[in-house]
Amino acid sequence: MRAVLKGAVAVSALLAVLPQNMAAAQGQSAGQQVDLLIRGGTIYDGSEGAKGFVGDVAVSGDRIVYVGPRATVSAGRIIEAKGKIVTPGFIDGHSHPDSSIYSPDAALRQVPQWIMQGATTLVMGVDGSGIGSGGGPIRSGVEIKDTFAQFTQQGIGPNVLAFVGYAPIRSRVIGEDDRPPTATELLAEKQMVAKAMCEGAFGFSTGLWYTPQFFSKTDELIELAREAAKRGGIYDTHQRDEATYSIGLINSVKEALRIGAEAGMPVHIGHLKALGPTVWGQSAEVIKLINEARARGQVVTADQYPYLANQTSLQAQIIPSWALDGGYPALIKRFNDPATLEKIKAETKANLARSNGAKSILFVASNQPWDGKRLDQVALEWKLDPVDAAIRILRQTDRQWVVVFSMSEPDVDAFMKQPWTFTGSDGSDGHPRISGTFPTKYQEFVRKRKVISISQFVRSSSGGPADFYKLDRRGYLKNGYFADIAVFDPAGYMPGSTYVNWKPLAKGVVATVINGKVAVDNGKLTNALSGRTLLHTPTPGSCL
Ligand SMILES: [Zn+2]
Repeated sequence: MRAVLKGAVAVSALLAVLPQNMAAAQGQSAGQQVDLLIRGGTIYDGSEGAKGFVGDVAVSGDRIVYVGPRATVSAGRIIEAKGKIVTPGFIDGHSHPDSSIYSPDAALRQVPQWIMQGATTLVMGVDGSGIGSGGGPIRSGVEIKDTFAQFTQQGIGPNVLAFVGYAPIRSRVIGEDDRPPTATELLAEKQMVAKAMCEGAFGFSTGLWYTPQFFSKTDELIELAREAAKRGGIYDTHQRDEATYSIGLINSVKEALRIGAEAGMPVHIGHLKALGPTVWGQSAEVIKLINEARARGQVVTADQYPYLANQTSLQAQIIPSWALDGGYPALIKRFNDPATLEKIKAETKANLARSNGAKSILFVASNQPWDGKRLDQVALEWKLDPVDAAIRILRQTDRQWVVVFSMSEPDVDAFMKQPWTFTGSDGSDGHPRISGTFPTKYQEFVRKRKVISISQFVRSSSGGPADFYKLDRRGYLKNGYFADIAVFDPAGYMPGSTYVNWKPLAKGVVATVINGKVAVDNGKLTNALSGRTLLHTPTPGSCL
């Protein structure tokens, strides 16, 4: 392995001294032996405003050793890419691969949902969620080192990087209660953030929409964010309110910007959206706030999935937060108190309207008889008011996932056009975005509706996020960079998943190359498991 690596670097160095077209034209690389040649595709290299050009990409070991017009190398393997598009492997800025990546089954650890789309790097630990298989996307732990050691030992499909999430921190230290931390508890929380940062976390993430994270005040969050900022970390957030549930979308964006400004760190807003009819049209104001912050010198970015529906838990979507103080058992207790139940019902009714009504809520991925049906339909069948039907479901399970048709097309388009908006699937079981985000963005928003250019699609899914996360030699097709590459057919690159059937994988990927290994070959999984764990390097001297 070491010898292969050295060879790759030598070829790269040789080719790097000549302009790329010179090397090819003069045949300087003639006879050079490379492992893999992707030949004759239309190349978008991931840089801003890059135009596509027809050419070759050569790979030796885990590195790209040539990108340019026709290469005159001899290759161990050739992938014919004529008429196909060749891009850097896609980076998913917001992912929840929990149902696959911790599996004892190697076939699942490839996370086919993502690599079949050409995705090669996933950002985990977002929404304040934990790392490790300890209990679903919103819980589990903060043990980055242990979890990554397990990934490396067992093998995983894509590269991963992680944030340290606030949910397991607050749950472990304070529990599910609506109260601020004591001084001792705040210290314990800060130590957990610091430890994870020193283990290679890229920053501190929150999901302030979710209880118990919602119970935090901005000052507590600034204190914790500072522990990440000191070590070069990013503040990543599922913001407190994407609608008008508590402080409202605009104030929520202001809170995120304030946390970043006061802690002194970049801010990244996950799955940016205007959720529900009460805030439709507010994308303009949100974009203005972010552009103003950027003009002041603050580093602010966002990610977005190309769908009009969000996904969350039923209680997070419609139950008032105060009713979740103390967790699920406390909620059931409140349901059993008639006066409290009336109060919950009144507020749930208002939240349902904020969510675009009972017709907009689709039950998914919970192994319940009502999966695949909408709330209005279930209510009709049970001859109940939709609020009563929802409460009946919540009395039976605290893990009911819902897909909610909550967004307007003009807002989604406006956010997508921003140069600081990256692609982030927010994918987990139940929503077609898990395996359809990148092809949907390409087919719907580039080819069909022409909302963005192909160059911006590639940039927002590769070089843009790679620069923001400061990934070491990833996100671009460049000499010496790690060979993370996607090759897809422009017409056949399609999502297989729909709202009705979220499980089918994407189609049309000719190859997904991850660290030089072909992980998807002619649309088939190879079980390469060549993904790596990517670590943030803490600011020197910050982890003594
Ligand atoms: Zn989220």
